[in-house]
Amino acid sequence: TSSAKLIDGKAIAETIRQELKAEVDELKAKHGGKTPGLAVVLVGERKDSQTYVRNKKKACEEVGIASFGTDLPETASEDEVLKVVAAYNADPAVHGILVQLPLPKHINEQKVLDAISIEKDVDGFHPLNIGALAMRGRDPLFVPCTPKGCLELLKRSGVQLAGKKAAVVGRSNIVGMPAALLLQREDATVTVIHSRTPDAQKICAEADIIIAACGRAEMVGGDWVKPGAAVIDVGINAVDDPSAKRGYRLVGDVDFAAASERASHITPVPGGVGPMTIAMLLRNCVDGATRTFAAQA
Ligand code: NDP
Repeated sequence: TSSAKLIDGKAIAETIRQELKAEVDELKAKHGGKTPGLAVVLVGERKDSQTYVRNKKKACEEVGIASFGTDLPETASEDEVLKVVAAYNADPAVHGILVQLPLPKHINEQKVLDAISIEKDVDGFHPLNIGALAMRGRDPLFVPCTPKGCLELLKRSGVQLAGKKAAVVGRSNIVGMPAALLLQREDATVTVIHSRTPDAQKICAEADIIIAACGRAEMVGGDWVKPGAAVIDVGINAVDDPSAKRGYRLVGDVDFAAASERASHITPVPGGVGPMTIAMLLRNCVDGATRTFAAQA
């Protein structure tokens, strides 16, 4: 008997894409046909990375964002990658640059991410954008897509954040840490839980909002959830399932069935945070282009 309201990330992401399509049309009309552009840099032949890049480019086209791409071989040198980034930094048709991670081991990821112009940093991973996110009175040019998507889901579901207690499980640079900063900016009181945190369950059980991003299948159990709490599950974990066609199924970091009986709102996996990540990437591209066009006008 599930009592939680399901937060339908797929439907919300679709609404956002339609909003963005209308915005892109408006931008074009206002600025002599100019379109926002996203450049995606892929190094190597990882199948999962290729799929992500393909999906991102397809999503761009659907809302009218021009997509550019450079695919480099696994053997590409750091200098070659940096040259590609520099060329996109200088290209006026490009408003967002995304380097698909992970990069091959011989390439210094920090150096490459630092080389992206902060005006085009649509992943929001540049230390200057993260720094601005952390500071009071500052506004980053871009916020990382996955945590931005988590907040968008909470807001569009009418979940109150100001004055509430939030627990974020995970402190990675791409999800947990920026999610905690975003919640704090919304005046929630945030506890960040990581692998060395004692009593993670107790901390979560006191929270009005839980964002789970620890990469541990169904770690957040039903008894971790305070009755009436909102639960956002970022995790994507493959677990063996002989009854499934592919031999595995995807589960989140939350025990969905048990948590649903206590939460007020909950995201499913898949179909929750996942679709929002790409929608927020498109949002960031359109924001970048809007700023650039306004500065040129
Ligand atoms: P990372 O592995 O980079 O970070 C995991 C974090 O969880 C770390 O901070 C780690 O702590 C913490 N952690 C690990 N085990 C425990 C534990 N037992 N108790 C408490 N904390 C723990 O993962 P990501 O942040 O990149 O991703 C998290 C999850 O989200 C993954 O399942 C990933 O697949 C998914 N994901 C989904 C996306 C989407 O679009 N929906 C996008 C990105 C990720 P410590 O720092 O101490 O090591």
